[in-house]
Amino acid sequence: MTRPGTPSDPLRVAIVGAGPAGFFLAERLLGQSDVTVEADLYERLPTPYGLVRFGVAPDHEKIKNVTRSFDKVAARPGLRFFGNVDVGRHVTLDDLKHHYHQVCFCTGAQTDRRMGIPGEDLARSHPATEFVAWYNGHPDYRDLHFDLSVERVAVVGVGNVAVDVARILSRSVEEMATTDVADYALEALRASRVKEVYLLGRRGPAQAAFTTPEAKELGELEGADVRTVESELALDPLSLAVLDAEDGPAIRRKIKVLQEYAHRPRTGKPRLLTLRFLVSPTELVADEHGGVRAMRLVRNRLAAAKGGGTRAEPTGEFEELPVGLVFRSVGYRGVAIPGLPFDEKAGTVPHERGRVRDPVAGQPVTGAYVAGWIKRGPSGVVGTNKPDAAETAETMLADLAAGAVLEPAEPAVAAAEALVRRAQPAVIPFGDWRKLDRLETERGKALGRPRLKFTKVEEMLAQLGRS
Ligand code: NAP
Repeated sequence: MTRPGTPSDPLRVAIVGAGPAGFFLAERLLGQSDVTVEADLYERLPTPYGLVRFGVAPDHEKIKNVTRSFDKVAARPGLRFFGNVDVGRHVTLDDLKHHYHQVCFCTGAQTDRRMGIPGEDLARSHPATEFVAWYNGHPDYRDLHFDLSVERVAVVGVGNVAVDVARILSRSVEEMATTDVADYALEALRASRVKEVYLLGRRGPAQAAFTTPEAKELGELEGADVRTVESELALDPLSLAVLDAEDGPAIRRKIKVLQEYAHRPRTGKPRLLTLRFLVSPTELVADEHGGVRAMRLVRNRLAAAKGGGTRAEPTGEFEELPVGLVFRSVGYRGVAIPGLPFDEKAGTVPHERGRVRDPVAGQPVTGAYVAGWIKRGPSGVVGTNKPDAAETAETMLADLAAGAVLEPAEPAVAAAEALVRRAQPAVIPFGDWRKLDRLETERGKALGRPRLKFTKVEEMLAQLGRS
């Protein structure tokens, strides 16, 4: 085989998943000056951008501006978008191997981690990931129901997702009404009777995963007062040691914000948001109908963890927090990809600098790559995916140079396109997404909102005259 990567014989790459990692990877590959690359971007939903559309909070509009640079990538001649095509259902990995030299999975982390405590599956106990997808108008989650008629809600975890969820529950309807939150979610939030929201961290304030701007934002909500419990902010020797580490100054700033909240008087805003530390849920307690009535919490102290860092150690002192709704925000988790190895513990695909590696055979899986959360796990912000995808792109190009690529039987662009159209006649090209984008923006403008999302696939197809 002559080595592909020339204008007459381009390197053909399938990228699965049109979230940030997929776009950053495409950008990097198509930006090569000495290798001609053609990338086809497969996306299960008709809409691109992954977590930028369905994860970033509606009130964080600016973070979504990154889609403008993704649109520039999509406009490059070497890129095609196959929206509404589910790899695994419409086309298989074997199909892709028939048409591409390389396949990179950028499928993210599509499910949630569990707490592993009794009562976790009671009614009104939900993964935060589902609530986030719901208020962001994800078609697979739009029909879920969250009972906002309760007065007290607990959000377990103190990562940025937990903060997003607590903030959305605490904001006034007026604040939410100028965002792109899904229309049904806005109505549900309008009817919300939630008065108190608790954010629960199992370790101390020095170990909180949320970032300082996110912590500050909680103190600026129009509809909610915020507070912390002073005794839970006291720093033990393990936390004091952290303050001298490299990221010590950032942690100090965060703790200062939290300390200020301990002394804030209530100002009579309709809601109260309380950040708690050094507490772990041990059980969700049911009411007579099988729904959450309360959460049992154990108080923790910090202990040194075996591999370094700290862990929460239960003290044996318990309390009961009366809450009627629980969001478990203890992390996302990747889903196995049929035909590829999977690390069940980490929820990621085993790899070496992005090249999938079969740990049993001790060999790379030729032509298979990963980037983004399915590669490194659910951490980092949108921009973290850029260097992550760049690493995978370098590996892909090194393998090309070494001749370690697949030898597809039908590498022609038309052959892959024919396969897709046969398997999924309702494939959505990028131009069709741009039409939906314009319609969403126009509908939003009329309401003083950045956009009003379509949240049903059928609705999107009907708008495009494709149903
Ligand atoms: P995360 O940052 O990993 O936070 C997970 C939280 O869950 C941690 O506080 C963790 O505590 C806690 N936790 C885990 N297991 C627990 C258990 N069994 N019981 C109690 N608590 C438990 O994850 P995330 O919030 O899902 O966010 C994912 C990534 O997206 C993060 O990198 C985040 O920064 C990013 N993100 C960014 C933004 C933004 O920039 N505004 C918004 C949303 C998400 P321990 O630390 O003790 O394990």
